[in-house]
Amino acid sequence: YVKERGRSDFRFYQKQMNIGLLSRMKIDHAMRQALEHQEFRLHYQPLVDLSTNQVFGAEALLRWYDKDLGEVSPAKFIPIAEETGLIIAIGNWVMHTAIAQAAAWNKEGRHLRISINVSALQFQQANFVDTLANALDDAHLDPNCIDIELTESILIRDVEETLKKLHAIAKLGVRMSIDDFGTGYSSLSYLKRFPIHKLKIDRSFIMNLTKDESDIAIVTAIISLAHALKLTVIAEGVETDEQKELLSELNCNEIQGFLVAKALDPHAFEAQFLQVATPLEQLPNKTLLGR
Ligand code: C2E
Ligand code: MG
Ligand code: MG
Ligand code: MG
Repeated sequence: YVKERGRSDFRFYQKQMNIGLLSRMKIDHAMRQALEHQEFRLHYQPLVDLSTNQVFGAEALLRWYDKDLGEVSPAKFIPIAEETGLIIAIGNWVMHTAIAQAAAWNKEGRHLRISINVSALQFQQANFVDTLANALDDAHLDPNCIDIELTESILIRDVEETLKKLHAIAKLGVRMSIDDFGTGYSSLSYLKRFPIHKLKIDRSFIMNLTKDESDIAIVTAIISLAHALKLTVIAEGVETDEQKELLSELNCNEIQGFLVAKALDPHAFEAQFLQVATPLEQLPNKTLLGR
């Protein structure tokens, strides 16, 4: 009996695994098709400068609708693309598409700064900086209009190599932010060595900000740390006026979140936020202090 039971448990377990593997393989296959048939899209979520209350930029966020799988969240497909290495091709597409969009808006007198998410595997490619430089060249885009979002996990690997790359990117004139700040393996000592411009406070600290004293303490600390290091700080996931008010009182520089808008396709973004030209002077420049 025990044996029987054990075997059926095993079979059950194996079935679960197969489903996981199968759906990962299915998603991998569908992603390759989507890339080939240009079915990925970039949506743009506005970024607001709290000192002017103006939209000065946008974060490019991947969107993928598959006819069988439906709308698949990047939180689901990006980890799979990281595993299979497809993220490199997807990441290159994202970089070129976002830079082309920034260049197109720029040409129309809408000087936005576009943030691009970069994954660990993509950043580790030996030609990452060259690819970025070439993409900027090809699009004739002022590098100051691009912000690269990196996660803490990227920064703690191979510190010397990472530092070299970050300096090369900074030399191009491209900005860099640390995404989801506070959730990773925070290595505060690296912050002073890295030529980055901005900390993005993770949404998990903002969600209950107005009700949770610990979150207020953490957010206050991140903002003062950022300012002491002459970095700009942005809060992600701002959904209410109360959160915005509190962040403003705490001297947070910028916000992003559903309170302003979710990520929108380029046409909707233009219709809602780009009816008037954005003057170049409007790009916040505070982080250049001392850097
Ligand atoms: P992220 O870079 O931290 O992006 C912010 C995420 O928070 C986005 O989710 C955005 O839609 C969501 N968000 C923004 N404001 C709010 C809010 O007020 N409330 C709530 N509930 N959510 C908000 P999304 O688009 O699903 O992306 C998830 C993650 O997938 C991103 O997190 C990023 O890590 C990754 N990702 C997205 N696009 C790319 C890409 O082009 N390349 C890479 N490597 N990763 C990407
Ligand atoms: Mg991001
Ligand atoms: Mg983020
Ligand atoms: Mg996040």
